[in-house]
Amino acid sequence: MKKDSWIKSPLALGIIPAVVGSLIPIIHDYIKELPLGTTFILVSNYLIKTLTRVLSFEIKLWWVLSSAAAILVFIVILRRFSQPQTPPLPKFLNYTEGVLKNWKWSWKWKHTNSGWQITQLTAHCPKCTTTMIQYKTSFGPNFECPRCTYSASEYQCEMPHHIESLIIDNIDRNNFIAESY
Ligand SMILES: [Zn+2]
Repeated sequence: MKKDSWIKSPLALGIIPAVVGSLIPIIHDYIKELPLGTTFILVSNYLIKTLTRVLSFEIKLWWVLSSAAAILVFIVILRRFSQPQTPPLPKFLNYTEGVLKNWKWSWKWKHTNSGWQITQLTAHCPKCTTTMIQYKTSFGPNFECPRCTYSASEYQCEMPHHIESLIIDNIDRNNFIAESY
């Protein structure tokens, strides 16, 4: 009863509207900015709480070790499969010299678009195995040893294209390992 009478008093009737009236613009301004401000506060609180929770999370040592091992295995597997697998070089690349008929011959292998090919096929002197000089005449190739002056002409010569065929045939027959040096 006392309360009601106080509110109804002339003083209260004068002060309350004045106070309420002065507060209305402040409350209005606050409410106007409320959605943005509230969202910002809520998001900040959420982030802080999440970060705190993550940072204060108790981590077991075996988790770290097993994770590191798993990552390591993953990297090894990834590297193995990402690297292009180069096929091994053919064995016949070691087959670069041999006696095909009576003379010793040496050669090199060159990889071309059509596969491996014999190059620099060279005849060696049958007497001293020095590399012989080959020169062509109208009758065919002639060979001459610069060391012991051995020479061969026409039918005495071993034909380079015959020798090349024999080398390839030896490879096809898998008969070159015994002759490789
Ligand atoms: Zn010779």
